Amino acid sequence: MRPVVRTTSLFIDGSWSAAADGRERIVTNPFDASDLATVAEASTADVDRAVRSARAAFDVGAWAHAPVARRAAVLTATADALQEHREELARLETLDTGKTLAESRFDVDDSTSVLRYYAALATTEAGRTVDTGRPDAVSRVVHEPVGVCALITPWNYPLLQITWKLAPALAAGNTVVAKPSEVTPLTTVRLFELLQAGLDEAGAPAGTANLVTGGGPAGAALAEHPGVDLVSFTGGLATGRSVMRAAAETVKKVALELGGKNPNIVFADTDLDTAVDYALTAAFLHSGQVCSAGSRLLLQRGRHAEFVAELARRADRIRLGDGLAKGTECGPLVSAEHRAKVERHLAGALAEGAVLRAGGVRPDQAELQAGHFLRPTVLTECHPGMAVVREEVFGPVLTVELFDEEDEAVALANDTPYGLAGAVWTNDAGRAERVAQRLRLGTVWINDYHPYVPQAEWGGFKQSGTGRELGPSGLREYQETKHVWRTLNPAPQYWFAD
Ligand code: NAD
Repeated sequence: MRPVVRTTSLFIDGSWSAAADGRERIVTNPFDASDLATVAEASTADVDRAVRSARAAFDVGAWAHAPVARRAAVLTATADALQEHREELARLETLDTGKTLAESRFDVDDSTSVLRYYAALATTEAGRTVDTGRPDAVSRVVHEPVGVCALITPWNYPLLQITWKLAPALAAGNTVVAKPSEVTPLTTVRLFELLQAGLDEAGAPAGTANLVTGGGPAGAALAEHPGVDLVSFTGGLATGRSVMRAAAETVKKVALELGGKNPNIVFADTDLDTAVDYALTAAFLHSGQVCSAGSRLLLQRGRHAEFVAELARRADRIRLGDGLAKGTECGPLVSAEHRAKVERHLAGALAEGAVLRAGGVRPDQAELQAGHFLRPTVLTECHPGMAVVREEVFGPVLTVELFDEEDEAVALANDTPYGLAGAVWTNDAGRAERVAQRLRLGTVWINDYHPYVPQAEWGGFKQSGTGRELGPSGLREYQETKHVWRTLNPAPQYWFAD
């Protein structure tokens, strides 16, 4: 048994504390359901204290108007610290989420790159001057921080998601209150410990970056709080709607990164071996608990029977296990409740006529019985009328639909309320570009699945969200735009006759 760590996890006004009412929550390891740590369960009083601290730190102006190089230095120092503690962070992420160590290492590296990207971008950011049409007046447009930002993140990519928000928010000169998912808060707590050193070194006011751990009520308190100017939320659609409603009361700016039901379109001219390989990664990476998971496979009729047979054969061979162990390809689902939800989706799909081609069951190995495992599952005979095709399952469940023509593939792919990401596989370059243009998605991969870079925007069309993370737009989310007009030698203009 690993020791249970008692974490003092609220970082408010520059110091660490427990919840005011002493409440705690136990965080468990999804691999074996053992207890990992206890964290503070923030109440609305703790959230209020964090927002007030962020408000005071923002309003004093020392951070918002600090030389941008100083803010960038905090991000760079945090990036360096992430790399210095890479293995420790990767292990912690794996223990908390169940994902493999290789995936966790990728997340630490991606978080590092995002911090470095925004450190560099912020220092090259400049406003612009605008022609006034008058020799006696100058006009400039500048970008300023929005104010106090609430950063609310989900459980599937804890370190990565908070970094995608924290880096541009701080680079732009905002102050923040972060709230990670109550299910997987541990790497966010560690990130704040590492961030603290950089903030202290830069002389940032206490309250520049605050952290509250807790569940939905703490998130709701942030979305409602009149002291918050912007809410950046990543999570499920239903929660996103409630955040938007809560934020409406004080007209906060809102950025939402919500779910997806992402099409992976494969034309028959594609190399079968490569497309099968990527279809597996698209659907089953992190056991399908990925917002951009390619959970809808759209196959062109032709070699589809051969394709499905190979897909099912290889899905059945995926090695489940402890994310920390060498050779594990897929970890467990994050919790017993989440697995039960995925299994309900599965039962519904079978009742609606889907045919099980792989998985659909819990693994039978003795060492996996305590964890929340489910075998990678392939369902055929699927169509958009089925709930399993329309709703985000967020687990290792891949549905297969068939099409004949390009137009039909595009229509099927767009027949969803979501619009996050997807892919098209074909050797016909013209067709690839045509399809990519017509897909109503924030990210389209051609002959690939899942890659992204900090320089390119990430976000959703339709009900997958509003706003963008990463890229220059990811910085703009955290900025207000101001026009400053200056008349050089003011004199009466006598618009109204004296
Ligand atoms: P969730 O919506 O249950 O929770 C997300 C966060 O919101 C958590 O921190 C939670 O405590 C908090 N929360 C809960 N109720 C709240 C409320 N009423 N007000 C404010 N905050 C509240 O989502 P989850 O189950 O943690 O994450 C899975 C979801 O996240 C999936 O739908 C997935 O697609 C989505 N996601 C999207 C992206 C993206 O980039 N678009 C990335 C990762 C995950």
